[in-house]
Amino acid sequence: MPDPGLVLILNCGSSSLKFAALDPTNGEEHLSGQADALESSVATLKWRYRGENNLLQLSPNDDFRSVIEGLVERMDGPWSTLKTQLLAIGHRVVHGGEHFANSVLIDQQVLTAIRSCCELAPLHNPAALQGIQAALLAFPQLPQVAVFDTAFHQDMPDYAYLYALPYKLYREHHIRRYGMHGSSHRYIAERSAELLGKPSSEINVISAHLGNGASIAAIKGGHSVDTSMGLTPLEGLVMGSRCGDLDPGLLLHLGEALDYSFTKLEQLLNRESGLLGLSELSNDCRELEEAMENGHSGARLALEVFSYRLAKYIAAYTIPLHRVNALVFTGGIGENSTWVRQKTTNWLSALGYQLSQEQNESTRFGIEGRISKASTPEILVIPTREDWVIARDAAQLASGAR
Ligand code: AMP
Repeated sequence: MPDPGLVLILNCGSSSLKFAALDPTNGEEHLSGQADALESSVATLKWRYRGENNLLQLSPNDDFRSVIEGLVERMDGPWSTLKTQLLAIGHRVVHGGEHFANSVLIDQQVLTAIRSCCELAPLHNPAALQGIQAALLAFPQLPQVAVFDTAFHQDMPDYAYLYALPYKLYREHHIRRYGMHGSSHRYIAERSAELLGKPSSEINVISAHLGNGASIAAIKGGHSVDTSMGLTPLEGLVMGSRCGDLDPGLLLHLGEALDYSFTKLEQLLNRESGLLGLSELSNDCRELEEAMENGHSGARLALEVFSYRLAKYIAAYTIPLHRVNALVFTGGIGENSTWVRQKTTNWLSALGYQLSQEQNESTRFGIEGRISKASTPEILVIPTREDWVIARDAAQLASGAR
C-alpha cells in the first residue's frame, strides 16, 4: 500500500501550542499534544503517541520556537517514522481579515497579510506568526499552509457583516463582522450533507458550535451567510467566560459612571463574564449541570441564559436560510449536554423542533446522529473535526505545490 502521508497541525494560542499529526484521508490521529502555560514557571508539555501518554515540565524559557524544536528533535529520535511520513504543516490562524476566503500556501506575501491582521486579533495572530516562523525554520523542506478561522465566513453578504456604524470605519479601518470557528462550521456543513445524503450545495444548515467559545452559523448551500461572532470572538452567544451580545451603551456607562479602564473592561468581558460571571461558580458547563442538580441557583440561571440566547439566534437564522434542512449541535457542550439541547429545543417548539428524549440521551460522548423526533425538523449532533479540515486543506494545497 502506498504511504498515505501525514499532516502536522500547529495551533498556537496566546500561551499554548496544540499539535497533532493526522492522516488527511481518514482523520486518524497519529500524534497529539499540547504545551501549556508557556513562558511561565508551570509550563508543561503533554503528548500522546502510539497509545502512550507523556508529560514533561518545561522551563520558563521555553517558547513556541523551543517547543517546535523539541518536536523536531523527537522526530529525529523516537518519532522518526512519523517524520518520514510528513507531507505538509497546517497552521491554524485565527484572523485572515478580508485577505483570505480560503486556506493558502504560506509565502512572504501571506506572512505580510497575516501580520496586517494582528490589530484585529492581538492575542492570537502574533502567536500564530511565531509558530509559523519557528516551523519554517524547523521544516524548511515541507509546504506550510495557513487555515483561517475567518475564511469560511468571507462569503457573508454585506448586509450581514456590516455594523450600523459610519461606513468610513469599514472603508478605512476594516471594522466589520468577520466570524470565527470557520473550520468547524465548514466541517459541520460538509458532514451534515453526507448524513442527509445530499450535496452540500443543496442543503441549508444552522450550525451551533458550543464549546468554551461558542458561535452559530447560518449556512446556505455550503456558504456561510451569517454568523454570531463579529470583529472579535466576543459577539454573539453566551460563552464560558465571554459575555456575547451586549448593549454597547453599557460600556460607556461602565467607563463613565464606574470608571472602568480598557484593561478592566477587557478582563470583564473576556474572562469574568458568560457562564462564569452569571453562575459565580464556573465557566464549565459540565460542572454547572452537576451544581444545578444539587440546587445551585446561579448554575441554573447561567445555563438558562445560555440556552435562551442560543434559541433566539437559531430562530433568527431561519430567516436568511428560508428552509432549514438541519439544526446541528457541536463543540464540547453541543456534543454532550443533553440539558442544553433539551432546553434550547423547548424554546423552539413554535418552529416545530422536538427532541427524542431517548436519542438525546444516547447521542453524546463522540457519537454522531439524529436527536429529533420522527417527522419533525431535523436536529443532528456531529462531533466537530477542525483538525481534520486543516489536515485536508494542507494536504490538498501541498499536492498542488509539488
Ligand atoms: P470545548 O471548548 O469544545 O472543548 O468544550 C468545552 C465545554 O464542553 C465545557 O464547558 C465542558 O464542560 C463542556 N462539556 C464537555 N463534556 C460535557 C458533558 N458531558 N456534559 C456537559 N458539558 C460538557
